[in-house]
Formats: sequence, structure tokens, C-alpha cells
Amino acid sequence: MDRRDFIRISAITGATATLDCCGQPERQLIRFIPEEDLVPGVATWKPGVCTLCSAGCGLSVRVMPGEAEVVRKREVGLIQMGLAKKLEGNPAHPVNRGKLCPRGQAGVQSLYHPDRFRTPLKLNGPRGSGNFVQIDWSEALEILTAQLAALRKGDEASSLTFLTRPMRDQRGVLIERFLQAFGAPPAVTFELFDDAVLRRANALSFGHAQLPTFDLGRVNYLLSFGSDFLGTWNSPVAQAIGYGKMRQGRPGRRGKFVQVESRMSLTGASADEWIPCRIGHEGALALGFAHELITRFPAAKTLAAGRLIAGWSEGLPDYQPANVEKLTSVPSSTITRLAGEIADNPPALALVSGAPLAGTNALYNALSVNALNALMSLLKPAGEPGVLEFTPNAPLAAEFLPKSGAAGCLAALEALVQEILLDQPRAPKVVLLYGANPVFSTPAKSQVRAALEKVHFVASFDSFLDETSLLADLILPDHSPLESWVEGIPESGASVETVSLAPPAVHPLHDTRAMPDVLLDVAHRLGGELATALPWKTFDEMLKSAYTPLLKTSGSIAANSEDDFWEKMQAQGGWWSQADPDPPPRRGAPRGRAKGVAPEARPAFHAPLSLAIPEFDGSESEFP
Ligand code: SF4
Repeated sequence: MDRRDFIRISAITGATATLDCCGQPERQLIRFIPEEDLVPGVATWKPGVCTLCSAGCGLSVRVMPGEAEVVRKREVGLIQMGLAKKLEGNPAHPVNRGKLCPRGQAGVQSLYHPDRFRTPLKLNGPRGSGNFVQIDWSEALEILTAQLAALRKGDEASSLTFLTRPMRDQRGVLIERFLQAFGAPPAVTFELFDDAVLRRANALSFGHAQLPTFDLGRVNYLLSFGSDFLGTWNSPVAQAIGYGKMRQGRPGRRGKFVQVESRMSLTGASADEWIPCRIGHEGALALGFAHELITRFPAAKTLAAGRLIAGWSEGLPDYQPANVEKLTSVPSSTITRLAGEIADNPPALALVSGAPLAGTNALYNALSVNALNALMSLLKPAGEPGVLEFTPNAPLAAEFLPKSGAAGCLAALEALVQEILLDQPRAPKVVLLYGANPVFSTPAKSQVRAALEKVHFVASFDSFLDETSLLADLILPDHSPLESWVEGIPESGASVETVSLAPPAVHPLHDTRAMPDVLLDVAHRLGGELATALPWKTFDEMLKSAYTPLLKTSGSIAANSEDDFWEKMQAQGGWWSQADPDPPPRRGAPRGRAKGVAPEARPAFHAPLSLAIPEFDGSESEFP
């Protein structure tokens, strides 16, 4: 008996025994999928990419043969196949370097979740009733293609809207190419906790419209203004690794951490000193520190980032500690003491996110903290690299570069809602949903639900029934990330150019299809410009076209042909521009610009900002 026969027989007898025991006659052994690289009882580790937040950490997926309940052709049954058992961090990945956050560890649940859509579904009742019937993929694709063809025939191609989460990957590029070739406007992206204000502030202060990357491992004094950087903000794993180094990774030197916020967060609970500050006034406190530092280093009055703050070039006369105490409720003695500590412990770094960037003074707060950072960077020894940088973009062809920033925006969503509710000429007639749940995450006043109920046809590519996909006429369920080609270009968290990429770690459990493959299929059915603009038969063909040109850029992969490069990129879990994912900082050069990545052109000069006194516009009786 050879190995393959042994595996087949033991799989079938094992499954039969299970069926006998469980006594569930509706389950049957459908088939056995032999996988050459899997040996019973032995774990195989495959690369993956975590998609549970935008950080884009690299995964190592532990795969072992096992028995799974699956759906094939609308039948439930059991299959012996390779199953993902555990997720760990990919040690070679520049963002997370072998570590994962608790959310990433739990990512395997998205594969086995019992509430996943298992087949395509068609609405069979009033919209929003949740009354769906199962259909097969040929019918689902015919329905979607017919709706899109009708738009094109009626010269209404611009009435197609794609509503998605922000995406910095080739899925996003594919959607944009599809929409452009179809004649529709760009996708509307939305996420609840968006960082649009910080991206704008960074563009104004530093010339980079993206989230920052921090070298926390070298910081001696860390000031955080409301930032939950150890929880969920930005690139939490990369930040937790750096924070660990800052606190315990340098014998004899433990960096101090001060958290300024109006409500104690999990991150704040780790601080050496927690400073309560009046909400919305955090920028004034940052400028109070800056005032004290400028008196010691008057050369800082000419800093470019400071020109965005009213009174900076005069030394911030309105931000003397006594004035700042009145604005923020932080004692002036504390402001003076902390400013002295900052000056004595370079390099110092300030972070801002969360509540300070969610109100009237959001841009003012972000620009003030940026100016403080620029000032504090003057205090470190000459030639030392900075501790705040921007991850350089991977050198991809322009046609494969995701939209810069790719931020979600409530204003764009609300404009779309008004177009629909007011029956404007460009109001969408067909809406495609992917990865966004705005009905749940926007206030009722935004009327997203009412607008979607009015749209002629709504299709969703989501994997779960939520408040938004409930309003769909057609559900085309995507694979789980562990069953898909996954990739992305991290916006922050790495000091080198990085692309994350991994092939499917396991076969699909259910009758789902990858969203990009569905879009490519529909494009070819519609033909014409769409088929020309999207020439690939499958999504992995597109990924290969996008990423194999990286072969010409020196980096973590040495290969002698495109095919060789492509194989190695899949095995490594991506590509990065240096073989060492954590290169030591070079003296005299910010790490993110080591390859000469210049800042983008700054937006037009912004008028200097002052603090606005936030006004309460709720009901005093409701919120005493
Ligand atoms: S920080 Fe990394 S591991 Fe955690 S959810 Fe985000 S991408 Fe996944």
C-alpha cells in the first residue's frame, strides 16, 4: 500500500466512524482532497496576511489534515482536507516580525464561523426582510451581469456605485479599474474610525498624506495625546514591539511614557504618568510644552511645521503655562516640569489620535502635535536618525499603485446618500457593497439605510449578514482571507518598502468565490472595454503582473526569473526592500527615506490655526 492509498483509506474510515457516532444523516462524506504536502499528524506552516485591520501583518498559518463540515452544490457534508489550526506572526515580515495581536490570533475564527454565508443568496421577499433563498453561482452571475448590462444599455453607466472599506491592495486597484472601464465614478470608501484628519495634517506638516511609523525602540520620552497605540490604532503590533524595546529592551535605560487623555484607555493604564486634559484642547497642551521648549531653543521659531500654528514664530506668547492651565485644566507646574523632562531626555516623540482628532479642533490638535514633534526632533544629538518616519511606497508601476491614503470618508458617503434621497441625475441605480457596514456605523441622521432602500439593485460581496448586507438583493459571498489570495501594501509600521502577499492557505470550505475573481468573470461576460481593461482570467494572474516587476528592485528575494521570483514571494509571504526586516537606523538619514523617497509636494499653505472653543450642541437635559 503506498502513502496516498493509506491516507485515502484512513480518511474515509475516520470520516465514516464520525458519521456513525454523530448520528446526523444529513451529513455525508463528499470527497477527499489529497494534498501532497500534508502528512497526517504533522503540521505544515503556510504564509498568510492578516486582514483584520489595515496594519497588514504577515502570518504563519499552521495547517494540518482534518475533517471539516462544508457546503458543495448546496449540500452539507464532511471533507478530509488541510485545515488552518493556528495563526502566528511571520518572523520575516517587516511590520510584525513574528508577533500578532489578540485580534490577529483570533482570525482563524473567520474561517469556521457558523454564520458565514455558504452559498450565493437571492432576496425572496421585501428588501430588509432577510428572506433569502440559496442559488448557484451561474444564476448569481447572470443576475449581476444582467443588472450591469442594463445600466450600460440605458446609457446609465455612471449610475453604478461601489461602496467599500478603504483598501491599499490590488483588490482596490481592480475595483477602480472595473469602475473606470465601466464608465462609473470611483468607489466610495468608508470606515468608522478614519484617520483622514491626521493624514491631512501630516501632508501639511511633513509632506506625507499617510499615517506615521514610529521607531519607539529608540525613544526615551513618549507623550501620547489620546492615542490608543497599544490597542487598535495604526499598526498596533509594530508599535507594541517598539514599546517593549523602549521600556525593557535597553538595559539601564527605560523610556518614560506619559499619556494625556480625558478618559483612561488600556494604553493609558500602562503609562508612568496619566494627565487628564479637557477634551478637544489637547493641542493647546502640546503648544504649552512647545512654548517652554522654544524659550530654551529659539531656533525652533523658524520650523516649517510651526508656521501652521498662529503665534509660533513669535514663540507662542498665548501658550504660557498659566494660560494653558486655564484652557486644559492641566496645572502649570506640571506643564513646566514635563517640558523640562522632554528637553532632558531626547529623543522624545509625541503621538496623537482618537478623541483629540474627532472634534472641532481636530486639525488644530494634529498640527500642534506635529509642530511639537518637529521641535523635539531638534533636541536629539546631531546626525541621529529621527524617531518619526513614513513607510516608503513599494516601487510598483503606477497602474498597480493603490490610491494614496485610501481613506474612508463620512462626507463622501453622506453626499452619496443625498444624491439618492433627492433623486439627483447621477444617483446610483446599482450599488455594490464590499467590506463596509455604514448602516450600522453611521448615525441615524445620515439616513444611509433609507438611501439604500431606495436604490434599484444592491449586491453584496460580504461574508456575513450585517445591517447593510441585509438590504441587498443578491449576496455573492467572498472566500475567507485564509481561503484567498491576500496581499497589501502597509501604509505604516515598516521602515522599508513592503508588500505583503500570500496564496490561499486552505481550500475553500463552502460554495463561496473570491470577490476579485467574480469581478473579472463579470467583466469578461460584459466584454468590450471592460474585458480589455481587465485582461486577467483570475486574480492571481493580476497579482503576478503587478508584483513580479519587483524582481528588478533589489530586496529580500534573489531570483533568476519571473516564475522563480513569484514562487519565492509566495513562500516568503511578500517582498520587502531589505533582507533584514528590522535594519538598524542609519546615522543622518530618517530610515523611511533611506532610498531617497522624497516627501510629496505639500498642499497649498494653510492659514495658521488657533484653538476654537468647542460648543456643546446637544440637549442639556439629555446630557447633563
Ligand atoms: S495589528 Fe496585525 S495582527 Fe492585529 S489585527 Fe491588525 S493586521 Fe491583524
